[in-house]
This record gives sequence, C-alpha cells and structure tokens, in this order.
Amino acid sequence: MRGMISEVFDSIQGEGLYMGEKQIFVRFYGCNLKCKFCDTKLNSFMEYEPDELFNEIMMYRDKYHSISFTGGEPLLQSHFLKEILELTHKNDHINYLETNGTLYHELKNVIDYIHIVAMDIKLPSSTGLDNFWESHRHFMEIASRREVFIKTIISRSTQADELRTALRLIREVAKGAILVLQPDSSEDKVYLHDKLETFRELARKERVTACVVEQMHKVIGVK
Ligand code: SF4
Repeated sequence: MRGMISEVFDSIQGEGLYMGEKQIFVRFYGCNLKCKFCDTKLNSFMEYEPDELFNEIMMYRDKYHSISFTGGEPLLQSHFLKEILELTHKNDHINYLETNGTLYHELKNVIDYIHIVAMDIKLPSSTGLDNFWESHRHFMEIASRREVFIKTIISRSTQADELRTALRLIREVAKGAILVLQPDSSEDKVYLHDKLETFRELARKERVTACVVEQMHKVIGVK
C-alpha cells in the first residue's frame, strides 16, 4: 500500500501544548474539509511504501520529542497511516497525531499506536463550514484513551455560543483535557485580544482549562 505524502522535514512544533518541542513532521496529502482560514499548501505529493517512509524518517538523527503526523488530514489515509505508525511505535518513537477531529471511524483503526492526539474542534462561525458536533463527540471519546488536547481557531467571526457548546462537549466527554484557543494569525491581534480574554472567562465559568497559544512558527518565521 502506498501513501501520498507532501513533505517530511524536521522543525519545532509551533502550536498547542507541545510548542517548542523538536519534531519530525510527516505531512499527509489531502483533507476532507475546506476551512476558510486554511493556509496549508498541499500542491503536490510523493508516493511511499510504509517502509520507504520509515527509512526516510530514520535519516533524521538528532534527538526528537516525537513524530508529528500532520496534514491536511492524516486519517484520510488511515490504512497507510496505521502501517507507518506500527513501524515507528515498534521502534519506540512517540507518535503525535495532528487532526481535524472528524474522522472517528478511522481514528479507531489507529488509536492503539498513537501517544498524543492534538485534535481540532471546528466551530462553524470560524471555519465557514457546517458543525461537526457529533463527529467531534465520537472522536473525542476514542481519543480520550490516549493523551489528548484540543485546539480551536478563534477569529473575528467566532460566536460565543458555539464556543460554549464546545466547552460543554469537552467537559462531558474529555474531562480534564486542555483547550487551546488559537488566534487566527491573519487577523487583527488587538481586536482578538479582547475576544480571547472574554472566551477564557467563558471557559473558566464552564470549568474547562483553556489557554491562549499563538502559532509561534509564524511569529518567529520557522517552517
Ligand atoms: S482541516 Fe486543517 S488542513 Fe483541512 S482545510 Fe481545515 S485548516 Fe486546512
């Protein structure tokens, strides 16, 4: 089985709770969503057999915190993903999955080989898409078997009632999971600052731990 991979590179994690950790990134080609704020460029890919990809990962010799399987949406190629995760897991690497949190059937297929799940909650007022509440619920139930944290993009258009729904879902399904509020990097920071403070307060009221983490790789200019 061959997988479509856009790029393999090493860098530091620029988002979420593991920001600053050195990782090997494996970017999967293709996504099932089309968020209006998406800035991921997936113009091309190379095809790999699982052992070819594993050998390429092994060429990175430094000390790394983990391997970030990212995209696009890696779970769109869940059979291939499972094969490469099995290989890295067997070789004592930490597998870190970056996902949009919607493809829960596929997650079930690979969860045994993942150590950390960094999942999104997609708020319709931020993405311009329909809601994914039911998919996020099922996804979070499965992800909670592992270490999981949740990210959501906050933009000018983000509605407080949708964030409240997300907070209640987290409290109900993934109690204790931390929510990262990630400001949309293309928008006015001053305006978003006040909104983020309001949303942190909302999270406190709903008894969910939330923190604001910007996309650091864009601020400091690394890949
Ligand atoms: S889920 Fe991620 S990669 Fe896919 S469209 Fe949305 S932001 Fe882009």
